[in-house]
Formats: sequence, structure tokens, C-alpha cells
Amino acid sequence: MGRRKYSQEELASIFHRSGGKCHLCLKPLVFEAYGRTDHPSGWEVDHSRPVTAGGSDHRNNLRPAHPSCNRSKGTRSSRSVRAENGFARSPLSTEQREQAVRDNTFGGGLVGWLAGAGLGFGPIGVVGAILVGAEVGSRIDPDQQR
Ligand SMILES: [Zn+2]
Repeated sequence: MGRRKYSQEELASIFHRSGGKCHLCLKPLVFEAYGRTDHPSGWEVDHSRPVTAGGSDHRNNLRPAHPSCNRSKGTRSSRSVRAENGFARSPLSTEQREQAVRDNTFGGGLVGWLAGAGLGFGPIGVVGAILVGAEVGSRIDPDQQR
């Protein structure tokens, strides 16, 4: 596996792709502990799809992981390691998490509005609720974004 140096900016981008969590065990990492194996929240850059399996060096394929998680992963896919750890999908990126919070806020507001609007706007409110539900339901798995 070709190891190369990453710039701070690249590291920050990779770190936030999984919301600052190890993408394999989903425990939080410490950004400043990058490259440290003596730190419990140290991390390194993992190729989500191993290079040996055709994975690229593109940052879409790079995720932060504990060195120990990365070692135990070996040549298996990230998906199967996460499944073993009991997670069906990869962690949300910082951006997706913020979006989810916004959706929840909006959804909560909508429920309140629905309850309040009751009579006059009932049908429109229901359509709005369905739209919000569809949007949340179609959230993209980052692994499938290429
Ligand atoms: Zn881990």
C-alpha cells in the first residue's frame, strides 16, 4: 500500500468525511492525534475500498480509521467489517450530520405547524410531511457516492 503524505487540508477533509469518527468502529477520533499509534483516539487514512481491490487514492475513497481497526480489516471490505461491528452503513459526514439536524428541526416545526394548522391546511401539511419523509429516506450512502 503506497503511503503518502497528506496535507492538513486533505486530512481535515478526510476526517470530516465520517464526521470525525473511525469509519470502521464509529468511535470518535481526535484530529490532532493523526498518525499516532500510542494515542487511543489516534487515526490514519484508510482506503475504504482497498487499493488491492481496485480502490483509488481519490479522497472519496479515503476515510479515517484507528490503526488497529485498519489492521484487523486487512483486505476485507469496509462494509463487511462494519457489519461485524454491528453497523449497517458508514458514518455520516459532518455535513450530512448537520443536514440531518436541520431536517429534524424542520420536521419538528412541520409537525407543530400541522397540529396547529389542522383544519385549513391539513392536506397541504400532509403532502409536506410526505416530502420530508421521502427526502430523509433517500439519504445517500456515502460509500455509493462516486
Ligand atoms: Zn476504529
